[in-house]
Amino acid sequence: MDELLRLLATGEADTTPALAARLHCTPEALAGRLLALAAEGYRPQPDAAGRLSLRPAADSLLPGDILAGLRTRTLGRGEILYATEMDSTNTQLKRAAAERNLPAGSLAVCDRQTAGRGRLQRAWETPEPGTALPCSVLLAPDLPPGQAHLVTLAVAVAAAAAIAETGLSPGIKWPNDVVVGGKKCVGILCEAVATEKGPLIVAGAGFNVRQRTFPETIRHRATSLWLMGAHGADRRALLCAYLSQLERAMAALEAEGLSGILAEYTARSVTLGRRVEVIGATETFLGTAEAIDDTGALWVLDDQNRRRQVWSGDVSVRGVMGYV
Ligand code: ATP
Repeated sequence: MDELLRLLATGEADTTPALAARLHCTPEALAGRLLALAAEGYRPQPDAAGRLSLRPAADSLLPGDILAGLRTRTLGRGEILYATEMDSTNTQLKRAAAERNLPAGSLAVCDRQTAGRGRLQRAWETPEPGTALPCSVLLAPDLPPGQAHLVTLAVAVAAAAAIAETGLSPGIKWPNDVVVGGKKCVGILCEAVATEKGPLIVAGAGFNVRQRTFPETIRHRATSLWLMGAHGADRRALLCAYLSQLERAMAALEAEGLSGILAEYTARSVTLGRRVEVIGATETFLGTAEAIDDTGALWVLDDQNRRRQVWSGDVSVRGVMGYV
């Protein structure tokens, strides 16, 4: 990120003369650079003492405005890839991480995806620009071998906790769909990427924020924060809250394994105790969801009274009475 923009975003900028001196440029050249930032949509403004900083516009996803709102130590503090339109934030971040030495904590975010992806080759729809928050974070989790799949549960916990900050009461449909009022509000897709630093994880989360309607095909199971009543939800504030929550959930997962987040996950679960339909590649069965174990698997008591361990990889779990 441009050094001027970084200083303005992090509150390290000073008065115009002091800032020009720090950046080794004339006040006139600095004025030109500030105008260029304004043309990109930034709003650098002086406080009473003349110190400049950014005053982000409502809902702005510009990288400097995101940086200005961060309360994290690392997440969001690598590179921030932003474009109004991307095919998919996961695809862009994976490509950048594989090609360049991106630091962990790097972020990809956009206003609209043209080829958003879900699990099992499914599509994730973000048709209207500016209403959704598709974002992906590059993570280097410090986890024992074989535990990387648990990251997706930490992402669900973090996304739900960030939504709870808007005043809504989100639930988690096992393994990683965040629902509000029985409909899906966040879809999550975590993917591994091979980099110079070894395998990293791209954690993608698509938040439905201000959609007023959804395509016919998903209307019965999709909702947005706006539709659920959080009319003031701001995508930048939501993103910054989510990154803080993700940093917290990942730290707990790294320190204690799944037990570090399981109580919170379970408290938000809308799957446990419910009648569910488990839809696998070769078999579908009905039962009651009983527990989530410390490997992240769901235990279901099927209708033949057999306890069955269900892995998230290749199944969908649906409520018998509806989506949840
Ligand atoms: P499910 O149990 O809902 O099938 P999943 O984890 O298998 O969950 P995902 O990969 O999270 O599914 O998401 C893809 C599915 O979500 C699509 O098949 C579609 O039904 C639905 N979907 C697509 N776009 C959206 C959206 N913006 N909001 C809510 N649901 C969506």
